[in-house]
Amino acid sequence: MTLDYNSLLTALAVSATCLAITLLASWIARRTETFLLACGVGLILIVSGIVAYGIYVDTPDAVVGTICFALLFPGFATVWGAGCQFRTGTLPHARIAAFGAIAVVATSVPILLGYDGLSFIIDNIAIASFLFATAYQYWRARAEAIVPLTGITSLYCLTAFSFVLCAAVLIYQGKLVLGAAPDNWSEDLSLAVCIASMTGIGALSLALHQWRMAARHRIDAATDPLTGLLNRRALFDRHGAGVMGPTTAVLVFDIDHFKSINDNFGHTVGDRVLKVFAAELTASCRLSDTVARLGGEEFAMVLHEVMPGRAEVVAERIRKAFEGRELDIDGEICKCTVSVGVASGRTKPLPFDAMLTAADKALYAAKRAGRNRVELASHLQAVPTDTARTAS
Ligand code: GH3
Ligand code: MG
Ligand code: MG
Repeated sequence: MTLDYNSLLTALAVSATCLAITLLASWIARRTETFLLACGVGLILIVSGIVAYGIYVDTPDAVVGTICFALLFPGFATVWGAGCQFRTGTLPHARIAAFGAIAVVATSVPILLGYDGLSFIIDNIAIASFLFATAYQYWRARAEAIVPLTGITSLYCLTAFSFVLCAAVLIYQGKLVLGAAPDNWSEDLSLAVCIASMTGIGALSLALHQWRMAARHRIDAATDPLTGLLNRRALFDRHGAGVMGPTTAVLVFDIDHFKSINDNFGHTVGDRVLKVFAAELTASCRLSDTVARLGGEEFAMVLHEVMPGRAEVVAERIRKAFEGRELDIDGEICKCTVSVGVASGRTKPLPFDAMLTAADKALYAAKRAGRNRVELASHLQAVPTDTARTAS
């Protein structure tokens, strides 16, 4: 029986080591996902604890038992911390250290006093608590990727439950002193569950990592890296196929004499101006509106559910606010202005690109009229996209 148990322990240690290596390798490939690093480090500690426990099974010595607990609990605490880091982005170092230390003390003191049975009851309860707490972290994050996260939660809960069973059997037996490692059906069952769950949790953690990377790539592909706004492609993905009714408005902005800002102050200052203007746009729109950088120093805004005349008011407010902004460049003041073209929806719905073209024409009317002003596309016609259109 002991030999079988030790073989299972070895299998668990080997599978946990392989998983730790895989997680660390994935982290090295993309260092942003530090929860993989934390999880890998936690697993290495747990594997060391399992090896110590294997020695304890053969020679049940209190010091070996204490070493085992001193490795296992920091490991489980770190795996829990990795769950927190996955969800929140930060590793709770202090709480990992505190919870790990509490568990080590709670299990080591009884075994050193000769109450090894009590130690193993506390050990099983503590491991189950860490695993349930880890499951809870992934469960709270389930909205991000419901399938892998529900899978991970279930596997952590299943494993935790197997440790609850181990504790329950020991409590039922009522022996505070065992003189050997616990050996009953629940221990064998728990070990088998651990081996199976470990594989599942490993595969799902990697799937989660891939899922996150794919989501990040999708966001990157839709985002303008300088301003953080949507890019032109994302704007067309969102609105390109739609038709716009009377309560929708499209605004196009172009910063005036931007080339001379670059020429006079340098490209870096030009970039700062673009970021300031992007922030101005974001601050002026509602959650349902869309703001995008079309390219260079041109931006677009799509407003929904606007009352007649409202789009012009928004455009004028942004123009005025931007005109009032002063950038301090090494003691020299840099001031900029913007021209705006506004196309408000008509009773007859228009395709998005017809609205954009009309707003663009109004924008160039604003440029011709002297810049730093808002112009309206007042003669929008409901015409198909491929036919010539006019704006005032
Ligand atoms: P206008 O008032 O007629 O709009 O004149 P303008 O100088 O703003 O227009 P023009 O199209 O001649 O110049 C746009 C400049 O924007 C040229 C280009 O070098 C600069 N530009 C485009 N993208 C960026 C960018 O990402 N960063 C910076 N700093 N400059 C950019
Ligand atoms: Mg331009
Ligand atoms: Mg310009």
